[in-house]
Amino acid sequence: MHFYSTAVQGEFARLDSRKQTAGMVSFKEAVLRCLPDDEGLYVPEALPDLRQFLLNADKSISFTALASAITPRFFEGELSAEEAARIAKNAFGFSPALVELDETFSVLCLYDGPTGTFKDFGIGFLASLLEELLGRELGAGAAGKVMVISAMRDTGAGIVNAFRGRRGIVTVLLCPRSESRGVIRGLDSADFVPNGGNVIPIEVEGNLDDCQRLVSGIIRDRPFADRYHVTSANAINAGRLLPQAFYYLYSFIMLKRKISGDLFFSIPSGNFGNLIAGLYAWKFGMPVDGFIAAMNANNAFGPYIRAGNAGPFSPSALTSTNSPALDVGRPSNYERLNSFYKSAPAVMRHMVFPRSTGDAETLAAMRRAWEKYGLILDPQGAVGFAAAERMAEDDFNRHIVCLATGHPAYWAHTVYEATGERIELPERLSALAKETAPIAFIKNDLEGLENAIASCL
Ligand SMILES: *Cc1c(COP(=O)(O)O)cnc(C)c1O
Repeated sequence: MHFYSTAVQGEFARLDSRKQTAGMVSFKEAVLRCLPDDEGLYVPEALPDLRQFLLNADKSISFTALASAITPRFFEGELSAEEAARIAKNAFGFSPALVELDETFSVLCLYDGPTGTFKDFGIGFLASLLEELLGRELGAGAAGKVMVISAMRDTGAGIVNAFRGRRGIVTVLLCPRSESRGVIRGLDSADFVPNGGNVIPIEVEGNLDDCQRLVSGIIRDRPFADRYHVTSANAINAGRLLPQAFYYLYSFIMLKRKISGDLFFSIPSGNFGNLIAGLYAWKFGMPVDGFIAAMNANNAFGPYIRAGNAGPFSPSALTSTNSPALDVGRPSNYERLNSFYKSAPAVMRHMVFPRSTGDAETLAAMRRAWEKYGLILDPQGAVGFAAAERMAEDDFNRHIVCLATGHPAYWAHTVYEATGERIELPERLSALAKETAPIAFIKNDLEGLENAIASCL
């Protein structure tokens, strides 16, 4: 599979084939370089056709077996089928769970990974992929050969978990000061570089957007990035998004004999990585009739999607809601989504349906899911469920799979408010509340960041 930059789109088709090839990179390069040298993001040039696989696959297939069957198709011409399958086998110690609620609704639970959100799928795959590439390219003992730098809000523990003990990888985490105020959550200082681990947590004078800009900045500082082999585990990395398509395919295989009408997915959307992954699954040949882009009050992206013409997008001011994982002003996958709209606006207008749900309705949807199905949803999942309920009203022969993206116990207070149920954080997740001090504190500037990193190594 090959990747090219969203910034050359439009251009791309017009370039002669020699120049096209020059701008393209392999999957391996897209993952290791993370960002192209222009302002774009990497997107796949063509995707494997998995229709035959989807037709034949049986409901008894395990998630890991599915991932192991598909991953070699990603790396044709780059890795042997055996190497690629090993990446999938070592990526996930957990599975998605599809729960059929009734004729109309299913819920796809994606929070059984080590840190209780769907992000465990992409991060786990990326970590396994980097380890496989390092083992292959550099041989044993290639310590410090790749640096993975990521901005974190609640994903830090997920990243550390996935990369802990992986040979040759150093993990730099940038945490916004506004949220941490001198403490970082969910990390264990035993994992930090000075204590013999492979993690460098850095607190930044700024917000999450600032941290994300620093990540892009350091990757685009090619002398530094090449010297330390810098990449990122944030969703800007294509190696995190593609494996998320696996759970859409998995849902389809579980449901394919049952449903005769239309199939939709409802996706709680913040940075829109999950939606992009769903669109990839569709491009792999998965029969699907549409995706609901479920947003909370931060719905500035709705008009853009509805217009379907890849017009300019103007972010509006952020509002705090009771589904905080969806509080995003400018989605980091904007360029990727835009590239879908640029290539086929008329198709996209009939494929992605924006829906926005306010706080009160989110609580009401959580309550209905509990009363009707005995199901506890997290607030983000409830935003998706509320949107799905509304869409189901105007058509009967439609099945909607609602993604439950996070473990409800993280938002126990909101769950209690909506349902009166008290739920406890499972033990594996309670360690995520642990507080530690970061190794360094920096101003929001690239040079300071690079110096802080260099002085740790
Ligand atoms: C990150 C996150 C989201 C948003 O997903 P995107 O891919 O950024 O749209 C939704 N729910 C939960 C629980 C999350 O952690």
